[in-house]
Amino acid sequence: MKIIERETKTIYTKTRTPGLEYTINQYVGCGHQCVYCYANYMSKWKEYGQWGTWIEVKTNAPELAREKVNGEVSMSSVSDPYQPLEKKIKLTRRVLENMDKHTKLSILSKSDLVLRDIDIIKKFENISVGLTVNCFPEKVRKILEPHASSNERRIKALKKLNSEGIKTFCFISPVIPKLTEVRQVLHQTRGTVNYYIIEILNTRLGGKNLKKILQDKFSESYAYLKNRNKMEKFVKLLKDYFEENNIPLEAFVEHHGRNYYN
Ligand code: SF4
Repeated sequence: MKIIERETKTIYTKTRTPGLEYTINQYVGCGHQCVYCYANYMSKWKEYGQWGTWIEVKTNAPELAREKVNGEVSMSSVSDPYQPLEKKIKLTRRVLENMDKHTKLSILSKSDLVLRDIDIIKKFENISVGLTVNCFPEKVRKILEPHASSNERRIKALKKLNSEGIKTFCFISPVIPKLTEVRQVLHQTRGTVNYYIIEILNTRLGGKNLKKILQDKFSESYAYLKNRNKMEKFVKLLKDYFEENNIPLEAFVEHHGRNYYN
C-alpha cells in the first residue's frame, strides 16, 4: 500500500446529500479494499494508481478540524476513518480531539477500532456512530471486504457503543440478493441500535471488478441482479418487511434504475 502524505487547505467539504451539510475525509483511499467501493472514482482525480493501492493522509487534518461549522458532518465518504492505518497513526483520533464538541457528527465504519475512541466520542453532544453490517458469510466477506473487521466484530462493536450510551445505527449495505443476510443482521442487532439505514447495491458505482467477481463466483446473485423484474420485487418485499415489522428506518437507499445490471 502506497502512503502519500500531504497538506490540504480545508477539511470540511460541502455536500449536496439531503440532511447533511459537510463531509470530512482525513484520509482519501482505504485499506479495507472492498471490491465494490463506490469511492473508486477518486482514482480518476488522483494520479496515484489503481483504487485500493494507495492512501492519501491529510497530515494537517487535526489542525483544520478546529474550524467551527454549522450543520451535520459525516465522517467519511471516500475512506473509512478506522481503516487499518489508523491503528498506527491515530489521525482520526487527533481529528476528533480537536473538533468542536457541539458539532453534529455521524461516523460510519467497518471496523471495531472505533471502540478505541469511545472516550472522545462521548464528549460530543450530538453524535451517532454506525457500523456497516451485512452478515456476508465469512468466506464471502473475505472476497468482497478483505481487510474489514468480521461482521461478528462489527456487531459486538455496536453492542458496546450502545451499552456506553452512544447513539448507534446499523448500515445494512450493500444489499446483494443471496449474499446479504438482512434478516440475520436485524436478528443480531435489534434493540442495540437506534436506527437502520439500508442500501441496495449500486451496480454502476460498484464497478467492473465487482461485476466480474459476481459473474464468476456468485452466479446466483448475478442472475438476480441481471433481472430487473426480480430486483423490483426483491426491493419491494424488503421495504414491506421493514414497514410491517416497525423497524426504525432512517433511509432506504434503493438506487432506482441502478440496482440491476442491464
Ligand atoms: S470501507 Fe468503505 S471506503 Fe473503505 S474500501 Fe470499503 S467501501 Fe470503500
